[in-house]
Amino acid sequence: MGGTSSNHFPEQTLAENYIDAVVIGEGEYTFKKLLEHFLGKKTPLEGVGIKLNGKINILPASKKSVNLDSLPLPAWDLLEDVDRYFPNKKHNALPISTTRGCAFKCGFCHNSNENVKKYLGCYRIANPQRAIEEYKMVQKLTKNKIDIIDVGEDLHLVSEDYAKRFCDTIVNSGLNLKWSTAARYQTLNEEIVKMIARSGCIKILLGVESGSKRIQEMNNKIVDLDKAKKIAKLLRKNGIFVTNSYILGHPTETLGEMNRTLKFIKEIPADENLIQLYRPMPGTPYFKICSEKEKINLPDRLAGWAGFGVLGQDVNVSEIPKSILFSTYFKTNAIEQTKFWFNQQRFFVRHGLFEDFAKSFIYNRFTFKLREYLNLRKK
Ligand code: SF4
Repeated sequence: MGGTSSNHFPEQTLAENYIDAVVIGEGEYTFKKLLEHFLGKKTPLEGVGIKLNGKINILPASKKSVNLDSLPLPAWDLLEDVDRYFPNKKHNALPISTTRGCAFKCGFCHNSNENVKKYLGCYRIANPQRAIEEYKMVQKLTKNKIDIIDVGEDLHLVSEDYAKRFCDTIVNSGLNLKWSTAARYQTLNEEIVKMIARSGCIKILLGVESGSKRIQEMNNKIVDLDKAKKIAKLLRKNGIFVTNSYILGHPTETLGEMNRTLKFIKEIPADENLIQLYRPMPGTPYFKICSEKEKINLPDRLAGWAGFGVLGQDVNVSEIPKSILFSTYFKTNAIEQTKFWFNQQRFFVRHGLFEDFAKSFIYNRFTFKLREYLNLRKK
């Protein structure tokens, strides 16, 4: 097994009797060695947790980090019925991995988890040309038209130099691609905004998280709120759909601090405000603040995490009374999700995404929640 739970709590993951080994960190080289080990070869293992003679052993991280440019392109050709990933006749989006990890370590984020820092290695960027090659490869495999690439991941536009290289590669490909991305307000400036708009960027995800300076400092995620407002305005003026994300109920957050965030949401232009309740991520400094306050019970088995922090079972580690925090969250989300739906429909029309426009009447976040609720009731 690999992925988040293997990285965050390898021992607990391995305690399940159906799991023999976990990869902690990057899997490309480690998984191959693990297979050799199970085939009986005396391969030295690193970056894994493994059961040996009934005992769990967690082995140190590999010193070798993966060079993204040396990897083969993902084997899309091995997928059965690749068309189902691109269900529209025209205007499908292809997710492409162009970076790995994040250059920052915000206190609430999985990137500041101790094992992620130790085992995953530093932030890396692949040659942007790989994205073009992958696009061409996948386009050949499907009968439907792909013209959008989604390169968001954790942090895509990390610097002006990289943004320029990426934009030049897209423009020089002559493919007339549109693309969506993720960045931080801190890494954007006027030049970058104009450059990405000219090269086909249509969507961007940016984290604000809080309107309070104290909470920002605690998170190790400082956002200059005045700069953010100017950048958001410019992005929208250049036709880029802006999603800002926020967290309500940070550890120790007061009502006044949450209200500052809510005020800021009204001040900054955006097409979507993605508002979430704080959920403690294991192994992060933020998590320590919560457990020190003894306000959370940790699941003692892997399966327990599935219900940890999902709606209805949210923990409140802020200083805000529970009823106010949760009712504010639901009320703000109801308003913001409605606004988002209309903005998204406009976005679909602007970019000729008529199939998505029609589908959104049936499949949207409201009907998704309704389906979730009905499924729960059935169980
Ligand atoms: S910038 Fe985003 S992805 Fe990177 S550490 Fe902060 S929250 Fe996580």
